[in-house]
Amino acid sequence: MELLENFINGEFHAPVSGLYIDNVEPATGAVYSKIPRSGDEDLSMAVLASEKAFPIWSGMSVNERSAILLRLAAGIESRMDEFVKAESKDNGKPEKLAAHVDIPRAISNFHFFATAIEHFASESHYMENVGVNFTTRRPIGVVGCISPWNLPLYLFSWKIAPALAAGNCVIAKPSEITPYTAFLLGQVAKEAGLPPGVLNILHGTGPEIGNAMVAHPKIKAISFTGGTATGKHIAKVAAPMFKKLSLELGGKNPTIIFPDVDIEQTVKEIFRSSFSNQGQICLCGSRIFIHNDIYDTFKSAFVNWVSSAKVSNPTDPKAQIGAVVSKAHMEKVLGYIELAKSEGGNVLTGGKRVFLEAPYDEGYYLAPTIIEGLTNECRTNQEEIFGPVVTLMPFSTEEEVLAMANDTRYGLAASVWTKDLNTAHRMADRLEMGIVWVNSWLVRDLRTPFGGMKDSGVGREGGWEALRFFTEPKNIFIKYE
Ligand code: NAD
Repeated sequence: MELLENFINGEFHAPVSGLYIDNVEPATGAVYSKIPRSGDEDLSMAVLASEKAFPIWSGMSVNERSAILLRLAAGIESRMDEFVKAESKDNGKPEKLAAHVDIPRAISNFHFFATAIEHFASESHYMENVGVNFTTRRPIGVVGCISPWNLPLYLFSWKIAPALAAGNCVIAKPSEITPYTAFLLGQVAKEAGLPPGVLNILHGTGPEIGNAMVAHPKIKAISFTGGTATGKHIAKVAAPMFKKLSLELGGKNPTIIFPDVDIEQTVKEIFRSSFSNQGQICLCGSRIFIHNDIYDTFKSAFVNWVSSAKVSNPTDPKAQIGAVVSKAHMEKVLGYIELAKSEGGNVLTGGKRVFLEAPYDEGYYLAPTIIEGLTNECRTNQEEIFGPVVTLMPFSTEEEVLAMANDTRYGLAASVWTKDLNTAHRMADRLEMGIVWVNSWLVRDLRTPFGGMKDSGVGREGGWEALRFFTEPKNIFIKYE
């Protein structure tokens, strides 16, 4: 069985403890590789390597750093097929999705920040007859990046790329549930000529190596994407150490459909916003509010469309829904469906596990599920399920739907569907979310601020926001004589 290794100081290393964790293929339920169960000794090696590399990397010209990161992007691209297959095998997502979204986006992340850094500028503030302030932005030093399993390389690279571009050295930990493409990234980094120690990739569990990274005094900033409960714990450990923190957390996103939409077209878009990646995208809309005037028509068209979606193994080019990421996660989602029923919900389609033929008969497949008849206040509509489950709720007025949409501890993203520009503007302005899409969903421009309000996070990623996070500003004042 393949044993993955940590990437430290430009070389691959077995964990010092010699301990490994099983890596399961969700499509079949079989263990197919093992990953290091890293601990403090592995972390010490990575910190030492990063500290040694920092003066070299931060001292390089922006052009040199940019050229290496562009080679890294090209390196992933040249192994596209291998990355696509690895991502799909590790996560359970259809290969088609990994080929169209995950891996191209990881390439774009490196490309985007490799070029953005060449245009990154700091400010100066002139004071008439007194002097001038100018602000430098220097890299922080050694930073930690911790990412989740739903968009493995996509989110891993979304943190690593700006951190490296800004001149930091990085210790990065992918999710222990989806480690494989991070392992491949180490190989590509080496081939691209990234100096040893600039990027170190440690595998292992959150409570062990993740927590050790957050608590390590030499790691000056933590960029984390994952669950809200984990984010809260990380903040508790890191805040008293005065670390810079960027937290991208959970969501319970509203999808709001007004009566003037083209129903046939919108049904297809809402299928995507609800069930892409088996509903395991922090931005997926899970509470669907439909105007009373079209509630019944929209509902029956949506149920028809969703119930005919193809749940299949990830290598099937026709698969619309693949496997969810793990047995534990599948059971959690099924538990929420039972909760919804006990709260009075009526399952319109789905609601159960799907058993495929061998060799996929032990895989973690769920039918896309639509539930109606629940209040917005119930647990099903307040807690993040993070799977292929949505609820439908009717509304009559903008005020009513705004109150329900905002009545959640989360504030990540919303989508609003209407042809009326005034309605769109009013809704967008009053929704308490970090991201609002109108007549669209998950259209990404890497320059825009990305992140959520309330319990969905602290700070923003993307564009200048990310480069500002990964740099320390220093204001220098020069007095005129
Ligand atoms: P998770 O919080 O369980 O794990 C995320 C990462 O944190 C993993 O690498 C894990 O090993 C690590 N971790 C766990 N405990 C830790 C600890 N004590 N100290 C340090 N690290 C620790 O989340 P998950 O289940 O992997 O991902 C799903 C969650 O991520 C969902 O809540 C989803 O909404 C959220 N998410 C948010 C965004 C966003 O941009 N806001 C994007 C994707 C996913």
